[in-house]
Amino acid sequence: MIPAHPAPIQISPRQATPRWQQLWRDAVRDPVELLGLLGLEELASRVSPAAAAQFALRVPRGFVARMRHGDANDPLLRQVLPLDDEERVVPGFGLDAVGDSAARAGAGVIRKYRGRALLVATGSCGINCRYCFRRHFPYAEETAARGQWAETLAIIAADDAIDEIILSGGDPLSLADGKLAELTDALKRIPHVRRLRIHTRLPVVLPERVDDGLIAWLRDLPWPVTVVIHANHANEFDGDVDAALMRLRDAGCLLLNQAVLLKGVNDSVDALTDLCERGHRAGVLPYYLHQLDRVSGAAHFEVGDDDALALHRDLAARLSGYLVPKLVREVAGDPGKRPLV
Ligand SMILES: *Cc1c(COP(=O)(O)O)cnc(C)c1O
Ligand code: SF4
Repeated sequence: MIPAHPAPIQISPRQATPRWQQLWRDAVRDPVELLGLLGLEELASRVSPAAAAQFALRVPRGFVARMRHGDANDPLLRQVLPLDDEERVVPGFGLDAVGDSAARAGAGVIRKYRGRALLVATGSCGINCRYCFRRHFPYAEETAARGQWAETLAIIAADDAIDEIILSGGDPLSLADGKLAELTDALKRIPHVRRLRIHTRLPVVLPERVDDGLIAWLRDLPWPVTVVIHANHANEFDGDVDAALMRLRDAGCLLLNQAVLLKGVNDSVDALTDLCERGHRAGVLPYYLHQLDRVSGAAHFEVGDDDALALHRDLAARLSGYLVPKLVREVAGDPGKRPLV
C-alpha cells in the first residue's frame, strides 16, 4: 500500500468546484508516473504507447493507494495498465462486441431489453478499465446529456413500455449533480417511468463522489433506486468505499455489484469468494459475473467458458445462495443477458 496523494480538503463556498471533481481531474494519467508510485519502474518496458494512445490510462490516486507496492501482478493495477499484451490481434475480438451500434434508438438511448431503456448518459468515467468495450467508443457524439436531454426524453416519453431507466455510460455519476437533476426532474413528468437504476463504478474508484449534493439528489427522487456498482476484486474496497456505500444505503438505494471475470485479476475461487463476501460486508449483493466482452485489446483477460463454469460451480459450493452472482454473457440480439449455467 502507498499513501494517497494528499489532496487539500476545501471548505468551499457555493459554486466552487466540488472536491470530487478536483480529485477526478487530479487522476494519474501517465503510466510512468503510476509505475513510479508503485516502485515498479522495471515494468515500463512492457507498457504499450500504442495502447495508451488508443485508450488513455486514467486512475484516481485513491485507487492507486489500494494497489500493493512493488507487485507487478496486483489485481487493481492489471485492470488499468496499458500493456503490450493489448497489441495482439486475436480473431473474434472486435470493435462492437455487444451489438450496441445496432441497438441504438438515438440520442444515447440503447434499447435491447423489454421495459428497460439504457441511457449512455456521458462518455466519461472515473477510471479507464482496459477490458471495457468503451475503449473503442469515445461516445462523444452519442451521449444523452448533450442537447439538455431533450431527444432522449422524447424517446422515453413516446414509449410507455419503458418503465425502468438505467443511467449508464461511461459513468453517469461523472456528471455534475445539477445535470443529473435536470434529467430526473424531466423524468418525473413521465408517468410510465417507475424505477431508476444507476450503473456506476465511481463509489468504488472515487468514493468522494458520494457527497452531500449527490445524497440530496438521491433522496429527492420519487422512485426506488438501484445502484449497481462495479468491483472486480476485494482489494477495491476500503474504509472510504464502505462509508460511501453506507451513505447510499442510508439514502434508500438498493446496492448490487457487477463484476467481470478477468484472467489474472479474479479468476480463482478464493478471489471470487473474497469479492462476494467483502461486498456483502459493505452492504452490496452480487448481481452479475460477466464473461468478458470480446473487444480487441482485451483478449489476454479472457477466461474460457469451461473454466468459468468450474469456478462458478466451486463458488456456489462455498457461499450462501444469495452471495453467488449469476454468470452471464452479453450476446447481441438476445432478449437479456445470457446465463452460462
Ligand atoms: C445489461 C443491459 C441492461 C440491463 O439488463 P439487466 O439484466 O436488467 O441488468 C439493459 N439494457 C442494455 C442495453 C444492457 O446492455
Ligand atoms: S464504463 Fe465501467 S468498466 Fe468501462 S471504463 Fe468506465 S468504469 Fe471502467
